[in-house]
Amino acid sequence: MLIRIISILVMTGCFVFAFVLHADTKLQEDSKERQILLLNSYHRGYLWSDRIEDEIRRKLNASGENIEIFVEYLDTKRNPRLEHLDILAESLAIKYQNFKYDLVITSDNNAIDFAIKNRNRLFPDVPIVFCGYNDFSLEDIADVENITGVNERVEILNTIELALSMHPNSRKLVFIVNNIRTTPARNYRLLKNKIIPKYKDNVGIEFLLNKSTKQIMQAVSKVSADNLVFILAHPMNKNIIDYEPVDEFTRKLAISSRAPVYAPWEYFIKNGVLGGTVVNAKGQGSEAAALALKILSGIPANKLDIIMKPPVANVFDYYAMKKFGLSEKDLPTSRIVINKPKSFYEQYKFFVWITGTAILILIIIMGILITLLSVRKKRDEFEFLATHDPLTGLHSRNYLEDVAFNRIEIAAKRHQSVSLLMIDLDHFKKINDNYGHAVGDCVLKSVGKVLIDQIRNEDTAVRFGGEEFVIILYHCSLSEAKEKAEDLRRKIENLKPNDISTSASIGVAELHLGEGFNELFKRADDAVYLAKEKGRNCVVTIEAT
Ligand code: GH3
Ligand code: MG
Ligand code: MG
Repeated sequence: MLIRIISILVMTGCFVFAFVLHADTKLQEDSKERQILLLNSYHRGYLWSDRIEDEIRRKLNASGENIEIFVEYLDTKRNPRLEHLDILAESLAIKYQNFKYDLVITSDNNAIDFAIKNRNRLFPDVPIVFCGYNDFSLEDIADVENITGVNERVEILNTIELALSMHPNSRKLVFIVNNIRTTPARNYRLLKNKIIPKYKDNVGIEFLLNKSTKQIMQAVSKVSADNLVFILAHPMNKNIIDYEPVDEFTRKLAISSRAPVYAPWEYFIKNGVLGGTVVNAKGQGSEAAALALKILSGIPANKLDIIMKPPVANVFDYYAMKKFGLSEKDLPTSRIVINKPKSFYEQYKFFVWITGTAILILIIIMGILITLLSVRKKRDEFEFLATHDPLTGLHSRNYLEDVAFNRIEIAAKRHQSVSLLMIDLDHFKKINDNYGHAVGDCVLKSVGKVLIDQIRNEDTAVRFGGEEFVIILYHCSLSEAKEKAEDLRRKIENLKPNDISTSASIGVAELHLGEGFNELFKRADDAVYLAKEKGRNCVVTIEAT
């Protein structure tokens, strides 16, 4: 029994160990770094091949695969005699002797030629993906194994068609061509033998063959505005050996030519060159990267069809369009306008959003604050109306009952002296009768103002009823209250609002020990009564008994 248990445990252990080991190797396999060599025919800084390279990097990185890309630049634009390539191959052979790439991608013709020629020495049996291969034909790789890629057609015919559709009344087509280099010579042959026959009966044709930049400029300056100029070869410098830099050439050409200039390569469409149907670099890079990913996933290169028709686009330069008075609605529906200045929004998108959001938040905060303030203002207004007399602005009778009542009780408990004045205007009814109710209101307002102005902050002035006012004086003895009452009486007498003689009878009382508001009020009220009896316009005090 024990032996059986031990053997089961040992077997389970072995199984778990094997499983863990397998999972680990699987994990290692999954995350294994794949190394790709990108052979670039030109140099970093050459727009066309930079765009291809950038798109390959972008797409491979975005795939999520663990891929490292190494780039060798063959620099053949600046060294077109290709004398350096054999020595470069030797140097690379040393560099790569203990090293094996998973895949080689080549961009443009010189790189694929170099890769095929030196394959056995540099990377035997490694699959190759080419792109930017000008006018590829299957015979070009008839003997080459394990290879696929993307054709790059120069869209000469489409570019001519595009130009003629834009300028249907053109009288002559002028072609800048070259038959010294292999590719331009092929383009020239194609143009002469296959394309020109279609047009020569309807329009004039002129070739500027193997001309230096200077000669081209001289010729083009004589071209009239109703002609079309096509760049179908890289311009040569005066030795007809080296290329003229594209930037320099396009700038000069656009200045010299009154006719629209077209070219079938995107990197020529700038500085006044109007447009063309082009194979774009991004499309080349994108298709090459897609093929590369398929090969890395295990599909043999030879099983992947060569992409013979790469994506093309009708491209126009924004500034050249302006020069020839063209707007976007004049262009074919399928087109890309390049070098278009970014709108303010595109240029400062991030800041526009940040500022917009900040402003929105501020507006929301301000809205909340304004609402809170108006709610608070409304509440204050309600509170004021509830506790104040609207005519005089003095406290109302409600306030006296709600607040002053309690305050007097508290003062009494603390043995603080509190006095109360009861003020009743004399013969007020007559004022109303003689001058009207509105004038009576003015008189009440003026008297109310005198009362407010004359009391201390801690005291309370109340409009008790029609022409009756109550003033509560805290920390104020009877004699002090009497003085105050006398003072107020004088001021009311001298007031003469609207030139009307006014006077008041004032009753004064002081709160006594053990008393409440009602007793105090009654004594002051009685005092007013006595004042009226005494003939009005006087102050009467009643002491507690
Ligand atoms: P006395 O000297 O005895 O106090 O005489 P009086 O006329 O002042 O007293 P009475 O109580 O007979 O009349 C008070 C008048 O005050 C009656 C009323 O028309 C007037 N009155 C009350 N409230 C208002 C008011 O808000 N505005 C105006 N204009 N008059 C008011
Ligand atoms: Mg009265
Ligand atoms: Mg009165």
